[in-house]
Amino acid sequence: MPAEQYDYDLFTIGAGSGGVRASRVSAAHGAKVAIAEEHRVGGTCVIRGCVPKKMLVYGAQFAEDLEDCQRFGWDIGERSFDWIKLRDNVLDDVTRIEGSYTNTLESHGVEIFNERAEITGPHEITLASGKTVTAKHILIATGARPRMPECQGAEHAISSNEAFHLDELPKKIIIAGGGYIANEFAGIFNEFGCDVHIVNRGDRLLRSYDEAVRDRLLQISTTKGIKFRFNTTFEYIKPCDEGGYFVKLSDCDEEKADLVMFAVGRIPNTEGLGLENAGVELGEGGEVKVDRFSKTNVDHIYAVGDVTDRVQLTPVAIREGQAFAETVFGKGEPVAVDHSCIPSAVFSHPPIAAVGMTEGEAKNTLGSVKVYLSDFRPMKNVLAGRNERSLMKMVCDGDSGKIVGIHMIAPEAPEMMQAAAIAVKAGLTKADFDATVAIHPTMAEELVLMR
Ligand code: NDP
Repeated sequence: MPAEQYDYDLFTIGAGSGGVRASRVSAAHGAKVAIAEEHRVGGTCVIRGCVPKKMLVYGAQFAEDLEDCQRFGWDIGERSFDWIKLRDNVLDDVTRIEGSYTNTLESHGVEIFNERAEITGPHEITLASGKTVTAKHILIATGARPRMPECQGAEHAISSNEAFHLDELPKKIIIAGGGYIANEFAGIFNEFGCDVHIVNRGDRLLRSYDEAVRDRLLQISTTKGIKFRFNTTFEYIKPCDEGGYFVKLSDCDEEKADLVMFAVGRIPNTEGLGLENAGVELGEGGEVKVDRFSKTNVDHIYAVGDVTDRVQLTPVAIREGQAFAETVFGKGEPVAVDHSCIPSAVFSHPPIAAVGMTEGEAKNTLGSVKVYLSDFRPMKNVLAGRNERSLMKMVCDGDSGKIVGIHMIAPEAPEMMQAAAIAVKAGLTKADFDATVAIHPTMAEELVLMR
């Protein structure tokens, strides 16, 4: 069929970070674009992920700041915390951001269908309303959803999706998982005064992060009152007449909790999309298989973001969406996203940030490795009487001095890491860092002073 016989040049399914970027840039290149979203424009990051989570992290941090400020001379009198006020302010801001995403799409002439879409033929999409449209290209950007394990009573547990809408904070919460979401929400709930228990199937938290940084988070979190149980699985969750739940874990007696939350990974949203009608190949975990240009095995169908399960991070989905638009509708060469050396952060209390190889990975990959460490108590913590130490680690190629990884756990670590990651991505060496004069007094100066 010639291009002009299709209703659209591009039909995007899913208006999250990747889908919105791809649609907007494709439209800016002159493509006629439509996008379908069954929930809310903005997707996981804006509606029930990164954005509202970070606002809760800010809210939670005040618990420590209000305690510490007294050592800095402030007398703040009675303190109280109103969860409903924070929750509603956060949800209002989410609605504001959703509006600005919608405006961006509309101002670029992207047609928005607020309904579910299914592929019903190689170039055909059918909307929940029954309307059928055709498109020259189709982009799958449907994201992922929380995995809910299959223990008895699992339906009584919440995921991070519901955590933003709680009517009250639980006195005691059991969180399953030891990854990003478990550690971030453990920090949030703990600062709000909840009794937090993390239950993990394995023996380590945040598997992909450097061991020293993971160990430090465990130690600090334990000191803050978060309880951890490792190598444990859920046997059942049963509602209790007086409210809350009876929870049985594999290695303990039945206990009571007000809330159980699962944070055990995310599953690509590929069911019911009709991908089989177009012959799109899926991987073992249900993810859409794509090449380096985000193209599926079907020439005119692409996929970006969490649904491809490459790196489940918002900025990566955005890059993939941008690269797709440049490749398919741009005037230049095809653009592939470089998935190497991606910096990341865990917004735990305190946060972790990293780029490049861990010490273990570097030792397994490179012949010789040199490691520099800075283990210090931030000045603010010293005056506050807070016995909480930060850690920074730089991993270098032993022969060339090239920095292959930086790992941190410190207040503001993600802010510091964004700048440091540029240097690592650019292939700078330890000597380049040492040649840079420190900004004193900061935590970041440790980066250029490591021995
Ligand atoms: P993670 O992949 O970070 O962690 C999953 C955890 O659950 C691990 O501890 C894992 O254990 C455990 N687990 C996996 N499968 C099961 C199972 N079937 N039963 C019990 N435990 C299980 O997942 P999250 O859900 O925390 O987050 C999902 C993704 O979202 C992250 O991978 C990340 O990409 C993204 N994200 C990023 C954030 C950020 O950038 N700050 C914040 C939040 C999410 P094991 O180690 O043994 O596999």
